[in-house]
Amino acid sequence: MQLPELKEDCSRCAALCCLAYPFEAEEDFALLKEPDHPCPNLGQDFRCTIHADLIPCGFGGCVAYSCAGAGQRVTQILFDGETWQEDPDLLHHMTYALRVLRPIHEALLVLQEIAALDLPAESRAKCSALTLALCPEDPKTIWDFEQDHLQEALAELPDFVETIADFALGAT
Ligand code: SF4
Repeated sequence: MQLPELKEDCSRCAALCCLAYPFEAEEDFALLKEPDHPCPNLGQDFRCTIHADLIPCGFGGCVAYSCAGAGQRVTQILFDGETWQEDPDLLHHMTYALRVLRPIHEALLVLQEIAALDLPAESRAKCSALTLALCPEDPKTIWDFEQDHLQEALAELPDFVETIADFALGAT
């Protein structure tokens, strides 16, 4: 089974993270913003106009954020490289897809780390089964990631992580 890319590549994304999420008062952003609204610091070229100064400008939340590769997958695979700038009707569909796919990619990153541990066979099998469930074959739309069995596997991950916590601690 081939995992999707789990590292962000902003050059192949339509800056989805810069519009999909709200900036809320208790978070590390210098302004407040509703979800599905472009950050005012986002340029027409999908690049951040204050990228070199995010921390001094009060946008530490952007530095800490990673989509784990979900952004470029939504843009390039699920939307064939189209963007919400070219077709504003896509905006809500693309941001929705990012919000669905990002936790799945984050879960795959966790499972990838778990797979590297020296685990008993039962835990190793569970890790493989969850990973497989989170990787639908040849997905075409975000609906492929909203299937019950996939979402159930995602929901199972926290309990599974608890069961292997001792092995993870032993590895540090
Ligand atoms: S400050 Fe820059 S990186 Fe952060 S959301 Fe705005 S445009 Fe994106």
